[in-house]
Amino acid sequence: MTKNIAVIKGDGIGPEIVEQALKILSKIGERYNTHFNFSYALMGGIAIDETGEPLPAETVEICKNSDSVLLGAVGGPKWDKGEGNLRPEAGLLGIRKALGLFANIRPVKLIDALSGACPLKDSQKIDLIIVRELIGGAYFGKRETYIDENGHRTAYDTMAYKDYEISRIAKVAFRLASLRRGKVISVDKANVLDSSRLWREIVHQEFSKNEYKNLELSDMLVDNAAMQLIRNPRQFDVVVTENLFGDILSDEASMLTGSLGMLPSASLGVGLCGLYEPIHGSAPDIAGQDKANPLATILSTAMMLRFSLNMEAAANDIEKAVDSALNKGCRTADIMSSGMSLLSCSEMGKAVLNEI
Ligand code: NAD
Repeated sequence: MTKNIAVIKGDGIGPEIVEQALKILSKIGERYNTHFNFSYALMGGIAIDETGEPLPAETVEICKNSDSVLLGAVGGPKWDKGEGNLRPEAGLLGIRKALGLFANIRPVKLIDALSGACPLKDSQKIDLIIVRELIGGAYFGKRETYIDENGHRTAYDTMAYKDYEISRIAKVAFRLASLRRGKVISVDKANVLDSSRLWREIVHQEFSKNEYKNLELSDMLVDNAAMQLIRNPRQFDVVVTENLFGDILSDEASMLTGSLGMLPSASLGVGLCGLYEPIHGSAPDIAGQDKANPLATILSTAMMLRFSLNMEAAANDIEKAVDSALNKGCRTADIMSSGMSLLSCSEMGKAVLNEI
């Protein structure tokens, strides 16, 4: 069997962490008699340097013709001063839109071996998933910067949602919750925003229409959700929310596990093809030093095997291998604690590979 994977290494630590993940995928391929055919594509800063644009048409084509996409990270100070549509992040928004990836799934799970890295006093059993709407809301709405009639510079961004955009993401959250503890919390700002009032109405409509018998649905205002994530994260199972709120809450939640370097993500649309990437950025401060933690990227490939390639057993193998390496005391600098062995990015990749 052959699976075509588009690989976007990106900028900063992107190439270093992706390299480790590809080695692991190749070993998994041998075990499961699957040939992973990697097609390399440019996006982000490196694409701007080499082609003049953050998302060349060829990259979109390669991704559309693949079973799945693996991405490192994009961005860096070198490209920070570019125009909005000439910045690396425009590549990210563009590829999500081009592939119709409307659902971003971010599991936030505190691995037992790393419980000491959680900044909360009582850190046991944090295990939640954030389902973030990815191609609507303020990041994609009408926007403008202009001088008003009194000469003041003025800017606005529009947070708009259509009913179908809300119902399709709600369905993703309900489906995921039915495979977990069955509890969905929909996060909005319905006390103030019209878009949130529609969000709440449609989420409940979708819930009652489909008779999700074993599920429980409740609503939470986003300001309260930000506080509750710190106060009592164990109350959350599946959180579903719009794009901007999800962006902020998922970064907040990620810190409950101690390091950005541990958390994978999946972005999915209607079909099976998805985009898989660590939730962190390109970490320019440690780029090129073989110091980055590759585990979020490696765990992203496990999500790819599970959600896009129908290889659940292989996904479990990778997750178990990561657990075993951590249980043996392997640590990169971001998750280092006393008594553990400090490894480089490539050494951590090897340590996981040895556990497969
Ligand atoms: P960042 O996530 O890159 O880094 C924040 C901090 O976490 C840094 O100290 C970094 O060294 C550390 N860190 C991140 N990933 C790590 C890893 N795997 N191992 C060890 N340490 C790690 O966020 P930032 O500094 O705000 O952004 C840097 C660049 O990345 C910016 O250009 C930003 O736009 C971009 N960015 C890209 C994405 C993406 O590609 N999806 C996401 C967020 C930020």
